[in-house]
Amino acid sequence: MTNTNLSAKSWQEELLRSLEVGIVVLNEQFQVEVWNPFMENHSDIRPSQICGQSLFSHFSEINEDWLRAKADPVFNLHTPVFLIWEQRPYLFRFGSNRPITSDSATMYQNVTLFPLGTNAQGQVNRICMLVYDVTDQALGKLRVERLNDELKHMSRVDGLTGLYNRRYWQERFDAIYKLSKRRETNVTAVMLDIDHFKKVNDTYGHQAGDKVIKTLAKLIQQCIRETDLAGRYGGEEFSLVLPDANAQQAMQVAERIRLAVQGTQVQHDEHTITFTVSLGLAPFCSDNPTAMAWLEQADQALYDAKASGRNMAITYTQ
Ligand code: GH3
Ligand code: MG
Ligand code: MG
Repeated sequence: MTNTNLSAKSWQEELLRSLEVGIVVLNEQFQVEVWNPFMENHSDIRPSQICGQSLFSHFSEINEDWLRAKADPVFNLHTPVFLIWEQRPYLFRFGSNRPITSDSATMYQNVTLFPLGTNAQGQVNRICMLVYDVTDQALGKLRVERLNDELKHMSRVDGLTGLYNRRYWQERFDAIYKLSKRRETNVTAVMLDIDHFKKVNDTYGHQAGDKVIKTLAKLIQQCIRETDLAGRYGGEEFSLVLPDANAQQAMQVAERIRLAVQGTQVQHDEHTITFTVSLGLAPFCSDNPTAMAWLEQADQALYDAKASGRNMAITYTQ
């Protein structure tokens, strides 16, 4: 009989030892009653060092008020509670055991708390805490999320300039148009085109042309606000939308860009290239039936700027 009990006990101990899960039993004061080998291995704290003592005295990373509040339903409602890594990466700051292959030095954890025992009055006086190492799952999910973010970014920006591509710019422009229709705010659309760009390509080559386009994109970004939206609309054509800018304020921005471009030199091989741009502005007007009609007004003004001699900014008038 004793033999059978002993072998059952050692079998259970063996099972507890080989479980890749942390098992902690706590009383109402959050004093540790059980501390299994998983917890011992990862914390370097032996059961004899922690049993009978407050969990919080050994783990300063655990916010006592927070954990007590989380465990409240376990004690008072007898229901289990789940702490997941997405909300808080870990409860115990353990090493991840994956220092070479993983991006994380810390073990991500899911933790389950459930009632384990009750006193004579039927109140829960002991809870069990299961600590799962979910580092692999967490890193996998984070990696997928990061890749998705990168893909989304890549689908939105133009490879040469880093500005928004036409499709995404248009999408945002449409949204701004709809908002402006409702709110009647001051917003101005701008179309910009490099003057005689064919000549740059013909004289210095396509690579020099690309360098000019890149330089222009940087200048535009330096001249606008973070809330302004700049896109590469076509080859050497750029589109902007300037929220909170009436015709006059937008003209100041346009002139800033035009003058910055005029004063810039692009070095390519032994050549110094200078260039100019023309800009067409169209302040939002509620009469515009579509976003496209609004943008066409900016394009019309750009055409006027070209026809009037280039290197200038013109505002659309009816
Ligand atoms: P305008 O002042 O009337 O705008 O004259 P333009 O020579 O700039 O005329 P247009 O806008 O018609 O010419 C655009 C040229 O831009 C034609 C095309 O070869 C060149 N281009 C378009 N995309 C790129 C690009 O990505 N890189 C380079 N290097 N050139 C491009
Ligand atoms: Mg051009
Ligand atoms: Mg053009």
